[in-house]
Amino acid sequence: MIDIFTLLTIIALVCYGKAGVIFLIASQYPPRLMRAMRCWALGVLMMGTDFGLLVLSDLGLIPESPALGSAVTLGVGGALLVFVAVQEIQERSYSKTALTVSVLLTAAMNAYVLYLGSAELRIVINSALSSMVTFLIAFALLRSAPQSGRSIYRVTGTLTVVVGLVWGIRSANPLFLHHPILSPLSDNWLQQVTFTVLLVGTGIMSLCFGLIFAEELNAELHQLASFDALTRIYNRRVFEDLAGEELARARIKREPVSLLMIDIDHFKQVNDRFGHVAGDVALHRIAEIMAGCLRRMDLFCRYGGEEFCALLPATPREEATAIAERLRVAAMETRLRYGETEIPLTVSVGVACIDQPPFDLTAIKQHADRALYTAKHTGRNRVAVAGYSGSPVRDP
Ligand code: GH3
Ligand code: MG
Ligand code: MG
Repeated sequence: MIDIFTLLTIIALVCYGKAGVIFLIASQYPPRLMRAMRCWALGVLMMGTDFGLLVLSDLGLIPESPALGSAVTLGVGGALLVFVAVQEIQERSYSKTALTVSVLLTAAMNAYVLYLGSAELRIVINSALSSMVTFLIAFALLRSAPQSGRSIYRVTGTLTVVVGLVWGIRSANPLFLHHPILSPLSDNWLQQVTFTVLLVGTGIMSLCFGLIFAEELNAELHQLASFDALTRIYNRRVFEDLAGEELARARIKREPVSLLMIDIDHFKQVNDRFGHVAGDVALHRIAEIMAGCLRRMDLFCRYGGEEFCALLPATPREEATAIAERLRVAAMETRLRYGETEIPLTVSVGVACIDQPPFDLTAIKQHADRALYTAKHTGRNRVAVAGYSGSPVRDP
């Protein structure tokens, strides 16, 4: 068995080591995760200082009362920062005022209990506070964990619940211990259990937190690599990968696949008349409207500039033409307001369909593009349909 003094010293040193490593690597992460990691590191640092102060006061290096009062305040504040880190990862809001008030109340309550001189009550209150903030972290972890990395959130949350329970049991110690705990360094089986669970539990939790950050980074990089930053729909690269897979599936099933090439009419004039910022807002909005006209199974991307592309699986030419017409009308009827002004927008759409081999992406794109050219040159704000069906390309 390790004595309590050594256990607390190890916990403090491990916390300092962890906080240092997290601070060092945080700067390599994107801003949202970096903020969360810094909160986490600061929280761990404060929790380490909590135990460090207890050790120093036991060595007689600092006076006992201020050490005991500020130790738990730092511990509770540190745990609240870990809660903030979880909220930041999830981009959830939290009340800074509520958190600050909780820390101030902890400090005030400790000052009062120290003034009363009731060591037993102090341990009961402080353990209860530690239990509550630990459960708060567990709640943040377990509540609506994201799809990616769900299991790691659950494991971390469950471990946090165990640590919270141990703090809770320590809080209730006068109910079942012959000699209630009177000092953070009292040596009995419950103290041993509490601090061993804390050392091992928080060690594993830190590993899990590291995995959560790795998972979040992965998800963020995937998002950056797959979606267009302005419109939040697929970019061309991912679209072409997924469209290739869709065409391979269609080849096996012998199902028709249609492609829509969409281009905003006279968009350069929109930029010239209303400015590029208004143009960006219009692009974002029009993408949103067109995405709303498509079905869940359709693939939709920003092909480049003010051009969009939609692949419609299992969709024959007539149905694709009807969908293209729906997109055109929706774009035309949209009231795009930018400040006081209304931006008029229409789109032209080229439709092509494949229903026989080769189910080739380049060929269907070429034909949809030609149809789009026809739509542009016959007056814009219209849908034009290619005669192509997948048989060898017939050049006009
Ligand atoms: P058409 O009807 O023939 O398609 O005319 P157009 O003006 O839409 O076509 P053109 O290709 O001449 O101009 C496309 C314009 O789209 C030019 C470019 O400045 C604008 N554009 C492309 N990408 C963006 C963007 O991300 N934001 C903004 N604001 N404008 C963009
Ligand atoms: Mg255009
Ligand atoms: Mg264009």
